Amino acid sequence: MKKRIHSRETEAAAKALIKERGVTIEDIAEIVYEMQYPYVDELSMDDCVESVEAVLTKREIQHAVLVGVELDKLAEQGKLSEPLQSIVETDEGLFGVDETIALGAVFGYGSIAVTTFGHLDKQKFGIIQKLDTKVGESVHTFLDDLIASIAANASSRLAHRLRDREEALDKEEREKRDKEERIG
Ligand code: MG
Repeated sequence: MKKRIHSRETEAAAKALIKERGVTIEDIAEIVYEMQYPYVDELSMDDCVESVEAVLTKREIQHAVLVGVELDKLAEQGKLSEPLQSIVETDEGLFGVDETIALGAVFGYGSIAVTTFGHLDKQKFGIIQKLDTKVGESVHTFLDDLIASIAANASSRLAHRLRDREEALDKEEREKRDKEERIG
């Protein structure tokens, strides 16, 4: 029988890779905050961190991270075959596989995730901007897009969650009012 990999294992590996490449959960949560605060009255950083953590439990995201970061690391070590080595190392402008992999991981969270990803790809915020700016020998051709993907998913998830919370409150209010009217 083939060995089946539990998602606990891939989750731990994906998280370790993100950390190893210099990105914290808080860095990603900050982008989520930036994306969502115009729409939410009382948005907290805790909400954003929680949402990033939840997105990282998804296998689809974990797999994208494993593939992308592996390629970044191999390129950094000069271990890819040419011409891929040069393409990934220099983040060649017309190379779009980094975006394609990251985009493939946003469909699970609906249209807000897709549009937010597109926005983040153009307007690079916070840690994405940092990763996109080449420093020394480091290669983050795939990582910047993966972080944008995680942030976009976490933003979409949060937007829906917070609306659910509001609607649950609305429902409570309505029920309370109905009850009071009946008593009165
Ligand atoms: Mg890229």
